Parts: sequence; structure tokens; C-alpha cells
Amino acid sequence: MTLTITKIAENLAAGRCSSRELVDDVLARIKTHAVLNAFITLDEEAARRHAEAADRARRAGGAGILAGVPIAHKDIFCTAGVKTTCASRMLADFVPPYDATVVRKMKAAGCIMVGKTNMDEFAMGSSNETSHFGPVRNPWDRDRVPGGSSGGSAAAVAGRLVPAATGTDTGGSIRQPAALCGITGLKPSYGRVSRYGLVAFASSLDQAGPMAQTAEDCAHLLAAMAGFDEHDATSLDVPVPDYAAQLGGDLKGLRIGVVAEHFADGVEPKVAEALREALREYERQGARLVDVSLPNSAHAVPCYYVLAPAEASSNLARYDGVRYGFRAPEYQDIEDMYKKTRSQGFGPEVKRRIMVGTYALSAGYYDAYYVKALRLRRLIADDFARAFERCDILAGPVSPSTAFPLGAKNTDPVSMYLNDIFTIPINLAGLPALSLPAGFAGGLPVGLQLVGRYLDEARLLNAAHRFQQATDWHTRVPAGF
Ligand code: GLN
Repeated sequence: MTLTITKIAENLAAGRCSSRELVDDVLARIKTHAVLNAFITLDEEAARRHAEAADRARRAGGAGILAGVPIAHKDIFCTAGVKTTCASRMLADFVPPYDATVVRKMKAAGCIMVGKTNMDEFAMGSSNETSHFGPVRNPWDRDRVPGGSSGGSAAAVAGRLVPAATGTDTGGSIRQPAALCGITGLKPSYGRVSRYGLVAFASSLDQAGPMAQTAEDCAHLLAAMAGFDEHDATSLDVPVPDYAAQLGGDLKGLRIGVVAEHFADGVEPKVAEALREALREYERQGARLVDVSLPNSAHAVPCYYVLAPAEASSNLARYDGVRYGFRAPEYQDIEDMYKKTRSQGFGPEVKRRIMVGTYALSAGYYDAYYVKALRLRRLIADDFARAFERCDILAGPVSPSTAFPLGAKNTDPVSMYLNDIFTIPINLAGLPALSLPAGFAGGLPVGLQLVGRYLDEARLLNAAHRFQQATDWHTRVPAGF
């Protein structure tokens, strides 16, 4: 399945293949490469059935570009009748009674879901090692992490198991694994895509988005998933542009902000070199580089690690062993049941976040931590607003390093948290950003991050698309795939 959605759609339209054949091929590849551990659940029978229905519908005419295209959903999206575990023991047997809005919309666009991808438990992590179902392996080097938390989706697309998958991004979980696996991933503006049916981690930061080989494919996927939803009060009631139709505009005069702080110490020299070369490509296409500064971005990681755990501690209070999910098999009374259920049902990283968040929100500390972090969040957002007075998009690293070895950082939470130093500020500001393949360092993919003004996904996708017209990094496939 090395084809992009765009190519698959051409083949389907020309009758060169059927959706049923594509689904069979995808399922076979997933099994051949089971060592990646990219999937938690496969929905084979339904996928085949839906593919046959898509083939019949196509013969009747009027099929859209995504009709009959096999995709995967991160296991954080509720899928009616299909297990949705969030990679936690707490939800290991949870079968939702309804579809998340993203799932429903993508179904309506004709996508065929083949299964649910592995991830960090409750989307907390940057390496996919916190999953209850074991780590995902990076197709470029199986002893390395794929990034997280949407690591299963990223590995599945990078290994060409599926042409596209969904992810969610609270602090970098679409962009960082996209970068570490060499694919294209977009975090939309906060409010662009409905969060309904998405298992909540930090509600003021969570956003769902597409992960695929190319920006063009992401444009089609975003158009299918975006839009107002009456079930999500934070979803925006604004028109969704036809992103794919807006691809192809030239980049002459585009002002690209290069953030001084992003090329300072801490970025691996080979990563920085690949990114500088990517910026030169933009200059060749007529874009102009502008120096900008985000002076408060150094505070973004500590700010995030107060706010995200605070929201998580509240969101995860619902897993009490009463309403749904896991319940400890033995206990004395109801309080003991809560304690044992939560002790046994959550992994160590999730517990750490609940403790940090509960502490930050507790009576005597609320002003010192939570309110202070909210103030910082405003300063960080203001930095972006100032930068965007001087430029149209920002460009810089997604992650300070390429994919690191499995186990290298999971005993040191702070070094793990620092992976997201360049992605977290964007979530705090609610802005759209994407990661696109921009080269290799030591044989491993490097991602370039482009950040846009609020709701300006179209410009980002176009800038990424133009880069992909002139480079072939996004077409590279790991050996053995
Ligand atoms: N790695 C970050 C965290 O662990 C971001 C995760 C995410 O975006 N879901 O919180």
C-alpha cells in the first residue's frame, strides 16, 4: 500500500482495483508487519463488508475521493460496536455505543476503517511506551520509538500498512510521531474538528487531525473531518474551506518566520542542518525568511505540565469502576473498590499526571500553579500573535532529535516531556500546525514544523504541498516495507 489516497482514488475511479482488494491488501500487510504492534484491534469482517458496499455504491456513481479508501483510527476515538481502549487496562474491554463525530464524518465520506491503532495510555506520552498493549516499533528502525502518543497511526502510515490514519494532538501527539516516522501530520486549530466521542485527556488542548503520506491527502482528510458539531460546544461554526482546491498556489512573497529560540542549543546538529536545507528550498520557491522571536516559549513545557495534568485529573475522575470500564475483582467496600480499580486500571504515567493535576488544583495551590499557568498560556499566545504581525507562517523543528531507542527515556519523565518543547506552545495558543518530512539525519526521518495563524490550515497545507512537489522525502519508504 505505497499509494497515496489521491492515487488510490484515481485507481478506484478507473476501475483498476476495488475497495475490497485494497482492504484485503491492507489487512494482509498489517499481519505481515505485526511486529510493529501498530494496531490494538482489527475490524476485518466489517471492513470487508463495508468495502464491498463501497464498490457497489461506486458502480451506482457519485463516489467522493475518500470513498472506499481504507484508513485506521487511533484507539482514542469511540467506534460503535468496536473496542475503544485508549491503550489502557481501564478501558481494555470497553465497547462504545456510538461513533465519535470524526469517525461518523469519515464514514460518511466513504472511508473504510480497518482497525484501531496503538497509542500511549490516554494519549500521555511521546514514545508509545506507556501503552497497556506494549510499545509500537518505528518502521525505520525497530529498536526505536515511533514517537507518541499517536505512534501506532504514524508507524502504520510510515510502514505503508494503511494510506492514512487519524491522530489526536494535545501537546504534539500528531506532529512528533509524524516527524519521527517520516510522514505528514496536521494538528488543526482548536475548535476546527469536533472532540465529541474523543476520550478526553486535556479538553482545552485536545484536537484530532489527519496523518498521511502527503499534505494533499491531509487536505482531503481534514475537509472530511472538520466542521461544526452541536455535540461539542467548543467546535466552531465557521465554513470549512475546500482545502484540496486551494493547493498549488505559488509561494512567492510568503513570509516565513524563523524562530530564533528554535535553532538554539538543544536541537541535534544534523536535525538543524536538514531543517536549514528545507528553508533554503522555500527560499528557492520565492518565500522570504523573517527572524522572529517567541520569548515565552521556554515556559511552555512547565505551563503545559500544570494545565494538561490538571484537566486530565478531572477528566479521568470518571473511571471509578462504577459506570464503565475496568473494576477491580476484589475489594472490601466502595472506597476500597475505587482505590483498587484506579490503582490496577491505570499505568504509572497516567497516575503521575493525576497526582500532579490534583495537587495543582488543590485549595492552597490553585493560584500558585493553575492560575499562574493560565497567565503564562496567555503570554505564550500573545507571542505568536506578535510574530504573525511580521510573517505568514512559522517554520522550525518538530522535535529536537530523531527517533530515540526504545527504553532510552522512560525512566526519566522530564527528558521525555522535553520532546514536545517545540510542539506544546502551539497547543497552548490553539493554532494549526503540521509536520512534514524534510530530510534524514543518521538514516532517520526529520520533520519540519509549519505553524499557521488561527484557522489558516489552507495556507499551511499549500506550503507543505509545494515543498512536497519539489522534494521526495515524503516518498521514502523504510527498508522491508
Ligand atoms: N507528549 C505530550 C504528553 O505526554 C503530548 C501528548 C499528546 O499530545 N497527547 O502530554
